[in-house]
Amino acid sequence: MYEIGKVDGEEIREEENRQQQKSEYDDREGKNILIDNFGRIAKKLRVSVTDRCNMRCMYCMPRGNVRWFNEQDILDFSEISRLVSILADLGIERIRLTGGEPLLRPNLKNLIISLTQLEGIKSVSMTTNGLLFGEKARELKDAGLESVNISLDTFRPDRFKAITGINGLNKVIDAVNTAESVGLNVKINTVVIRGWNDDEITDFAKFSRDTGHIVRFIEFMPLDGSGFWRSDLVYTKREMIELITRNLGGIMPLNHALHCDLDTNGMNHKNNSNRYSNQIHKSDPAALFSFCDGRGTIGFIPSMTEPFCANCDRMRLTSDGRLLTCLFENPGYDLRNLLRSRKSNQYIKKKVTENMRKKPEGIIKIIKTKTLKPSLNLMHTIGG
Ligand code: SAM
Ligand code: SF4
Repeated sequence: MYEIGKVDGEEIREEENRQQQKSEYDDREGKNILIDNFGRIAKKLRVSVTDRCNMRCMYCMPRGNVRWFNEQDILDFSEISRLVSILADLGIERIRLTGGEPLLRPNLKNLIISLTQLEGIKSVSMTTNGLLFGEKARELKDAGLESVNISLDTFRPDRFKAITGINGLNKVIDAVNTAESVGLNVKINTVVIRGWNDDEITDFAKFSRDTGHIVRFIEFMPLDGSGFWRSDLVYTKREMIELITRNLGGIMPLNHALHCDLDTNGMNHKNNSNRYSNQIHKSDPAALFSFCDGRGTIGFIPSMTEPFCANCDRMRLTSDGRLLTCLFENPGYDLRNLLRSRKSNQYIKKKVTENMRKKPEGIIKIIKTKTLKPSLNLMHTIGG
């Protein structure tokens, strides 16, 4: 059974982040900004471009017949671009395209081209299952895609089929290599589920050490839609770190200034020159580590045991046009209706700002009040 708890220094890191957010807010005083009642400022937007998928991951998709959004309810690219431009005016800077599987949307590169041209947008990235990514990597990069997160939970073909419902392991591994070869920043996302793939945590960490790819381990969240989630299936960050250090030796934190001098063996690594240090952002929900010799980059996204809510700087747009200020907000605020009833940008801005003010505290409150219910939201509709 997992419990909420922060590793040494986490509270101080959160306070540092809050101070940083506050000083950025002070810098922007007088300008439009998306800030909630807890003082959190939204800078990132996840845009889910479809709820459909060419996989059926058991931790994400409901079993049986899935009820998809109606075609006419899905935002078209010009509607998405208009909303992103409105949000960019309110301080949103970084966009992540997700889904469902984003690459099921035909001509996605056109959306990337138009988003990268919007004033205020600093980067457009994507999260994909990788099945179709390899063949499109070059055109997506040329369209302006900056980085890609590719989901991969196992190196074993049989298990890949058991988890995702299809045979496609080699295609996903090829996609990782192609993405890197065309010059994209690549991260691998691995959801760890006890009894399903926790015996591969060491293999993934070793893969990162041997190849240099970033691997981020994600704690299983109750957003699977089929009621499969249970608290005892959550393999915690703490357990993962113990396992990796036991099997492969010490690791050292990369983005926790507090820990940067000492690794788990007490060695000094002040001059760590990890090749991914340029990709490390303070607001990244993943605590990143490398091995003591500086090789590999592994991260942990402890969504359940150390929720990132206090430093959350993101909001989400579903493919049917709902604004979610939090993963656990349901059903969210209907922006599609505003777009299609010809409301002005000014009016939409006002509504977005009002909703942002009411952003819930997050999963931490849900866990503490024991109101955690599986299937609060469906991951394939919100995009992670
Ligand atoms: N289809 C794309 C993919 O799989 O990468 C994008 C959408 S998927 C919903 C986004 C991310 O959410 C993936 O990395 C996936 O592994 C993760 N995810 C899905 N269900 C999850 C769950 N119940 N708990 C934690 N992460 C989950
Ligand atoms: Fe599809 Fe991604 Fe969900 Fe898997 S995790 S079912 S690939 S949306």
